[in-house]
Amino acid sequence: MTVDAADPRACPTCGDPLTFEILDDERFLVVWSCVNCGVIRTTEPL
Ligand SMILES: [Zn+2]
Repeated sequence: MTVDAADPRACPTCGDPLTFEILDDERFLVVWSCVNCGVIRTTEPL
């Protein structure tokens, strides 16, 4: 298995895959979180 450190969907702290949850369909607001570290970031495209 190849680990890509630049993978935006991997936790920057522990390397586990992040899970995302759509908070707002209309605004495409998505929160990325790690089961170990908690919420990593949110994405809100302009
Ligand atoms: Zn983590």
